[in-house]
Amino acid sequence: PEAITVAELANRMAERVADVVKALMQSGIMATQNQSIDADTAELIIEEFGHRVTRVSDADVEDVIKTVDDKPEDLLPRPPVITIMGHVDHGKTSLLDKIREANVTSGEAGGITQHIGAYQVTTKGGDVLTFLDTPGHAAFTSMRSRGAQVTDIVVLVVAADDAVMPQTVEAISHAKAAGVPMIVAINKVDKPEANPTKVRTDLLQHEVIVEQMSGDVQDVEVSAHTGQGLDELLEAIALQAEVLELNANPNRAAEGAVIEAQLDVGRGPVATVLVQNGTLKQGDIFVVGEQYGKVRALINDKGERVKEAGPSVPVEVLGLNGTPEAGDVLNVTSTEAQAREIAEYREHAAKEKRAAAGAATTLEQLMMKA
Ligand code: GDP
Ligand code: MG
Repeated sequence: PEAITVAELANRMAERVADVVKALMQSGIMATQNQSIDADTAELIIEEFGHRVTRVSDADVEDVIKTVDDKPEDLLPRPPVITIMGHVDHGKTSLLDKIREANVTSGEAGGITQHIGAYQVTTKGGDVLTFLDTPGHAAFTSMRSRGAQVTDIVVLVVAADDAVMPQTVEAISHAKAAGVPMIVAINKVDKPEANPTKVRTDLLQHEVIVEQMSGDVQDVEVSAHTGQGLDELLEAIALQAEVLELNANPNRAAEGAVIEAQLDVGRGPVATVLVQNGTLKQGDIFVVGEQYGKVRALINDKGERVKEAGPSVPVEVLGLNGTPEAGDVLNVTSTEAQAREIAEYREHAAKEKRAAAGAATTLEQLMMKA
């Protein structure tokens, strides 16, 4: 059952601990500030002090932030979100840079210098694609383990002069476990020793059968150096996205996932959020993991201030009360009280979980000694 310490109860009501102890005493309960009282007793005391009782539980949190099921007629197509994975040095960063460079129009403010952990490009065919600029399996798995499924498509980069390596295999299993479709980018084909055929046959052993091998996984030969094949790669992505029929409802309270977050000296806590449903607007009140806030400013991947961000758009969010973690989910709430209560409830639950884990360790250690 739920319980709260006397000190914590006093703190939440913004009352003096001594007054709460006294009130408890008058109800026949002797408790010091570090002792816990049950929820029913706490409720009586709260009412005695003339405060409003709000009990937050997992179910309440769900209630507030639960995605109202979108009606089919409210859904509109949204851009795909792409993560680039592959073995170290196979060219993930080079490929991301080249794609961005080649698809940023010169008139865009900020140019390509802005780094917010994700960016959007518009292909020559007019398709908008969102790339997560966080190549690496750690980011992918940590987000997935935290329940945030942010990627629609994985581009598996395999260097044609090196073929399938351990992290290639790891990436394949991550993509398969997540149920995310893959596109193989056979990179470094500009090199004289490049052997794309070896890449394709190597992949067979890992049950990745590319189109050239009569399978259904698209494969494209590219060079991040010369830019060869990059348009074809973007076309392949757009084609895969079409098959997935990705959609979202832009006309609802926003829901998103934190891609990156840090405490900025000048700007305070800043989080890059990928909006996954709804539209995030300046002035929106939100809860994100154990933090909450009100959107003070939104900054896009070109470094421009924007008033709102719709589905699949990555934006920097300013106006947080603390720094969330990558993978945290952001939900817009109707009131600040709701946002704060949920954040505090989660923080409390996390603390208890850590305390319980700590206690278990201690018990284990005791048993080890015995
Ligand atoms: P990452 O570890 O997968 O991010 O790989 P990088 O993008 O850092 O690339 C590793 C090295 O391969 C760098 O020295 C790149 O310049 C080089 N490289 C990447 N792509 C290509 C390519 O298409 N052709 C050639 N020749 N070299 C490349
Ligand atoms: Mg890299």
